[in-house]
Amino acid sequence: MQTLIKNISSLVTVRADGARVKAGAEMQNIGEIRNGAFLFSDKIEWIGTTQEAEKLISERKLLPDTIIDAGGKTVLPGFADSHTHIVFAGNRSDEFAMRLRGATYQEIALAGGGILATVKATRTASLEQLVEKSRKLAWTAIRHGTTALEIKSGYGLDTATELKMLRAIQLLKLELPVYVKTTFLGAHDFPPEYSGNRDKYVDLICNEMLPAVAEEHLADYCDAFVDKGYFTIEQGKKIFNRAKELGLKIKVHADELTNVSAGELAGRMGAVSADHLLFASDASISAMKSAGTIATLLPGTAYFIRMPYAPARKMIENGMAVALATDCNPGSCFTENMQLILSLAVINMRMTAEEALTAATLNGAAAIEISDKTGSIEVGKNADFLIADVSSYTDLFYHFGINQISEVWVRGENVILNPSLRG
Ligand SMILES: [Zn+2]
Repeated sequence: MQTLIKNISSLVTVRADGARVKAGAEMQNIGEIRNGAFLFSDKIEWIGTTQEAEKLISERKLLPDTIIDAGGKTVLPGFADSHTHIVFAGNRSDEFAMRLRGATYQEIALAGGGILATVKATRTASLEQLVEKSRKLAWTAIRHGTTALEIKSGYGLDTATELKMLRAIQLLKLELPVYVKTTFLGAHDFPPEYSGNRDKYVDLICNEMLPAVAEEHLADYCDAFVDKGYFTIEQGKKIFNRAKELGLKIKVHADELTNVSAGELAGRMGAVSADHLLFASDASISAMKSAGTIATLLPGTAYFIRMPYAPARKMIENGMAVALATDCNPGSCFTENMQLILSLAVINMRMTAEEALTAATLNGAAAIEISDKTGSIEVGKNADFLIADVSSYTDLFYHFGINQISEVWVRGENVILNPSLRG
């Protein structure tokens, strides 16, 4: 079954010609085809202009079963949201309201708020309750154009609950029509039981949690929050070395609150990505660049907790590959909407529209190692794309704060219109 979509005013391909990721100045190159057309089954089979498609059809060299007239809309690759925490229980809107009234972190913690509030709720929730709540968030993300999701554990901070969260992600992976990658984040924070002996919790992660995660093949990546007040460089190194021994790849929550050279650690450990990086030093940027570690920036978090934004321009000008993700989580950034992240990236991190699109598609897919099959519209890749109700990709940025995506296609299936795929 082959479908041709034609009369695409702006066909954004993010063509990479076999490259895994686009770095530095190459991020500007999004391979736009004006008045484009493409043919697909579950994979992309042909790409060109509408005139070329019509000529090939008249010569019977293209024989689509169905032709869709896009009527001058824009088509772009699906968004790969490579950093989320959408599996959790509870609700922290009361704490958010306290913060808006000027409450300090300590006052919020005393009132029972903060990450430990989510830990408490997640420990008592059933597997089914976790799946039900996350399913809703995942579908909101999909309706806003997300076709690949990374989801982390990290609200259990004990072996049983961390495993329960990872099993919830595995169940979501089975039922969602989008790509799902899983990250073990037992080192998200220290549980209250170990507040007096943090190294003992690191031992629990290394000796009990990681082996159990590896044994059941519950995660693709191991992540740790390496920052002031959280895991030290030494503790991070210990956890990552153990994870690598067990066959897991590395991601790092790095330099979000202050510069502790966690970006440098990410580079040295050969991490697939280092994420946040609000305070990344020049040494971190150069270590990540030489290791091919992707800088995953999360401007929604800087916005939501009123922090300075990560130095995206400096990273791109230094030739790094930058990805964009939501960091969707109940405390520091509660949004599933990648279009909002694009807006924050261009306005507050001064990325260009083209760089932001590359970062949210191909580079996001590279940050979860699936850019060989998705993240761009190219012959041979899976037919994963979005139809946006605008005549040019720049309208996605110009007209902000609303959902511009009218159709979401994954592996050649319209996942919004096909009720059998809907959660
Ligand atoms: Zn995070």
